[in-house]
Amino acid sequence: MEYADFAFIHCIDENADFDRVMNGPVWEYALRRRGEGTIRHLGFSTHNVEIARSFLATGEMDLGMFSLNPMYDYTDESEYGRGEASDRMALYREFESHGVGIAVMKPFAGGQLLDAAKSPFGRALTRYQCIQYALDRPGVLTVLPGVRNVDDLRTLLGFFDAPKVERDHSELAEMAPESRIASCVYCNHCQPCPVGIRIGLVNKYYDLALVDDKLAVEHYHNLEHHASECVGCGHCDTRCPFGVAQSERMRQIAEHFGE
Ligand code: SF4
Ligand code: SF4
Repeated sequence: MEYADFAFIHCIDENADFDRVMNGPVWEYALRRRGEGTIRHLGFSTHNVEIARSFLATGEMDLGMFSLNPMYDYTDESEYGRGEASDRMALYREFESHGVGIAVMKPFAGGQLLDAAKSPFGRALTRYQCIQYALDRPGVLTVLPGVRNVDDLRTLLGFFDAPKVERDHSELAEMAPESRIASCVYCNHCQPCPVGIRIGLVNKYYDLALVDDKLAVEHYHNLEHHASECVGCGHCDTRCPFGVAQSERMRQIAEHFGE
């Protein structure tokens, strides 16, 4: 029998399709093959927040392909971007706490975010901003933009050498509705911290710890610098375009983790 590292259950966007898969031969086949060792990992793809949750609830998944970008997170402009920003962010944390990685689909919203005339924000983001935005969400392992030709590929590969300033997506603070922005979006625009605290990462681990992600707690304790080292200089407060009172949050984080 042929071996596959990954088997995917693709394009499940409706509850009826999910039920059909779970109660039919596909699911039984996938579990059996994995039990036999001829499939190593199971994955799924969906655009739907609730379907993603249903897949996570099976406890059998290793990877989920999910459409993720600022437009889907912060606006209702697409049928793919269902769900409030805070709920979508909660979903990304659930991926991470279940140990299921996210492979991001549609990081540029089908190109809409790259074109000011088509973007619901009325201005364009760059490819590198969109990729960094996706990579900064909890649970995200990789981003899979569409590639039309070699030039597209070269441009995308330039991400790895792009300076931080070209990947900084904090201008979203001026674009997304205030009510839909989560408290800290881990953008790291407020860096550098004089004592070396990795502010975005510390906040990400804290938010994950609040939903009982034990691995995130471990990662936090393994960091070189912790929230308790914050000297309250206020540099991050003045730099944060999202209005996060970060020095105050550092105190909460230090209290939560005990360091
Ligand atoms: S207030 Fe604390 S976390 Fe923020 S930059 Fe200063 S030392 Fe770093
Ligand atoms: S405090 Fe603000 S600038 Fe710093 S990572 Fe969070 S959202 Fe970004």
